[in-house]
Formats: sequence, C-alpha cells, structure tokens
Amino acid sequence: MSTRKIRVATTSLAGCFGCHMSFLDIDERIVGLIEHVEFSRSPINDIKHCHPDCDIGLIEGGLCNAENVHVLKEFRESCKIIIAVGACAINGGVPAMRNHFTLKECLEEAYLDGIGVENPMIPNDVELPLLLSKVHPIHEVVHVDYYLPGCPPPADAFMKVLTDLLEGKEPSLPKEILHFD
Ligand code: SF4
Repeated sequence: MSTRKIRVATTSLAGCFGCHMSFLDIDERIVGLIEHVEFSRSPINDIKHCHPDCDIGLIEGGLCNAENVHVLKEFRESCKIIIAVGACAINGGVPAMRNHFTLKECLEEAYLDGIGVENPMIPNDVELPLLLSKVHPIHEVVHVDYYLPGCPPPADAFMKVLTDLLEGKEPSLPKEILHFD
C-alpha cells in the first residue's frame, strides 16, 4: 500500500445511511484502513466541509433536494475520484419510486392527507431545502468515476475498492461481492 495517507470524504444525500453502515461492517479492518486513510468531511466525524484536496469521495444516495445538489458539487470540486456508492446514488434507488407521482401528490400525501397526519400543513420554512421535482442519480449532475453497486454494497466490496485504489490499481470486484440488491 502507498505510504502517503489518502484523504477520503463521504456523504449521504438522498440515502438511508445503510451504505455507511455497510462500510462500517468492515469491523476491525477499519483499524488497518486508518493507517492508510484519513477522513475528511463525513457523517462519521464532525468535519463540515471537504478538504479542497481529497482523493476519494464516497457518495451514498441520489439527489432529491437542492442541498443534495450543492453537497454533491462540493464533493466533485474537492475529490479527485468520485464513487457512486449503492443503488440510490447509481440509479436513484428506492427513493426514485416517487418519480411515478408528482411532487404535489407526494407532499399532499405526506403532510395533508396521509394516515395519522395531525395539523395538516406543508412545511415552507426558508431553512428547508427545496425538493426537486424528481429524484436523480448523481451521474446526471456530476461526472462519476466508479460505481459500487448493491443496496447496500457489502463491506468486502468497500474494502476491495479502497484497497485497489490505495495500491494504485484500477478497482475491480470479484463476482461473489458484486451484486445489485
Ligand atoms: S443503496 Fe440501499 S442501503 Fe444504500 S442508501 Fe440507498 S437504500 Fe440505503
């Protein structure tokens, strides 16, 4: 492995954090990993913005609101390599099922007409990011260098991709850890 620590940033956009949980399923192997990796902005620390010179950005989740787009662009500007992690980042995933409905229908179901709704009102505080009319995969907004499939990708797949990159190799996944569910 390289002697220089590589800088990795991670984020969850319209994701469920399941991909991050699967990454953490590398368990004790994280101890060996952090000998070679330092983390920039990530939900696993308190860093608010990407270091301007990150090596790898792991992106979980597609794009469902304006903040997602903003964060994704920051990652693309800061990271040499962007990896779309999981089905949501790759093709929108389960959240993209809302694309079968209008945004108005979704908001009305969630905040006005849905079962159990009390004090019906669609939130409109200026602090809230505006929803996009559709959910998008990240490659529709930025260039993506690699795709790590799965919902979520298995921990072994995270290890294999990161190890390959640390060794300066083109990442490749053996069939047994390459899946799409
Ligand atoms: S790909 Fe699956 S596990 Fe990952 S964020 Fe999407 S729903 Fe969650």
